[in-house]
Amino acid sequence: MDYKEAVNTYKEQLIEDLNGLLSINSVKGEKENGAPVGAGPKEALDYMLKLGERDSFVTKSVEGLAGHIEAGSGETIFGVLGHVDVVPPGDGWDSDPFTPVVRDGEIIARGVQDDKGPTMAAYYAMKILKEQEETFKLRTRLIIGTDEESDWQCTDAYFKHEAMPDLGFAPDADFPLIYGEKGMTTFNIAQRQTVLDEEEPNIELKVLISGERYNMVPGEAVAKLRIIQNMTEVIQSFEGFLREKEVQGSYEIDNGFLKLGITGKSAHGSKPEDGINAGFVILQFLNTLSLDRNATSFVKFADTYIINNFDGTSFDMAHFDEEMGHVSVNTGLINYTEVDGGTFGVNLRYPKGLDFEKGLEAFEEKANRDGFVIEDVHHEAPHYVNKDEPLVKVLTDSYRNHVDDDTEPFTIGGGTYARTMKKGVAFGAMFKDTPDTMHQKNERMKIDELLLATEIYLEALHRICIKDELNEN
Ligand SMILES: [Zn+2]
Repeated sequence: MDYKEAVNTYKEQLIEDLNGLLSINSVKGEKENGAPVGAGPKEALDYMLKLGERDSFVTKSVEGLAGHIEAGSGETIFGVLGHVDVVPPGDGWDSDPFTPVVRDGEIIARGVQDDKGPTMAAYYAMKILKEQEETFKLRTRLIIGTDEESDWQCTDAYFKHEAMPDLGFAPDADFPLIYGEKGMTTFNIAQRQTVLDEEEPNIELKVLISGERYNMVPGEAVAKLRIIQNMTEVIQSFEGFLREKEVQGSYEIDNGFLKLGITGKSAHGSKPEDGINAGFVILQFLNTLSLDRNATSFVKFADTYIINNFDGTSFDMAHFDEEMGHVSVNTGLINYTEVDGGTFGVNLRYPKGLDFEKGLEAFEEKANRDGFVIEDVHHEAPHYVNKDEPLVKVLTDSYRNHVDDDTEPFTIGGGTYARTMKKGVAFGAMFKDTPDTMHQKNERMKIDELLLATEIYLEALHRICIKDELNEN
């Protein structure tokens, strides 16, 4: 089959169908009758299922949250998992986010890159195969979710009712292919034990605030101190500290209180060492002062276990995997008040081979001794498909037949939709040089790249679901 030629024949219709999907505002909304995550996402799901019906596929809706478009029969199920919900458009668009426009060969609309464009590309790959009257040897399902951007209720509901595909891919990330994703955890380390001072301390830490999200390195930190004597000395030492550390900071005196501010450098939580954690910096300064006992216990704990703990060593949870890399630890939230004590909000990502639960338990025992407990643990295990699987080989090969790029399949520290399928990999649809406009204003996708992705998916599905190449291996 000439994949390029085949896709080209469908170009106009593909764009038209995509524009219809992009015109639906499918931001998560209030629960309505039959629409658990709002009317918009449900409308987008129904729109896709209607295309499936129009083109004579078998379709199914599951709880108004997800559905599939199916071709072929047989025991082996091949799943392609896309989503039609989008994040809120935000401000600053040059055109209406839900009225797709074409400029310089690019379609501009919310969701065109994440994930309506790639989902439609995968749909057209199925449609073209069907209309070429090919026989699907695998039961091939385009599974459509409507809650990927929030709580993944869609895949939860879907897999409660429907069989897990034996294998598949999610067109919701990058080419060539992502076969491993680190385990993702968040937890809080909270101070419990209040230690009273025997006499009034000269310096009291009233408040410390740094960070807003687990998965970001805090770029700002502020602390408020009450100082009875020698305020000037503390200020001088703060200024010296800033110079020595070469970081930006500020101070302000307010009614006997000293407010300190640090500006670090924000970064993504999967690469904490790329940033400058403003919370760490302010804690390092506080560690040079003689504070009240409670704050001292908080700051000492930070010094032992938190500050510059980027790879889990201080938790005794460091681990390295050849393919998936190191444990990464981001302390995205650091808070302290004199009433409630301190809390560290941690985002820890880890490669296969680490027993996270056991590691955390052992760390908690140590933390307990210093008056800290571990709370609010969220844990998703690493996702990994063997790189030598025929699935990975055929998909990568399908990509390389259309793109002059030898980049090897890779693993990432984040999570993609693929992890909801037992043997699922992420496969496109962003190319190496595609600007990532997902979740941003003026989200866009080149029409050429939309067509190219469709060609790649067409070859992949042709080889796997029609020619059954994986079975022959
Ligand atoms: Zn997505």
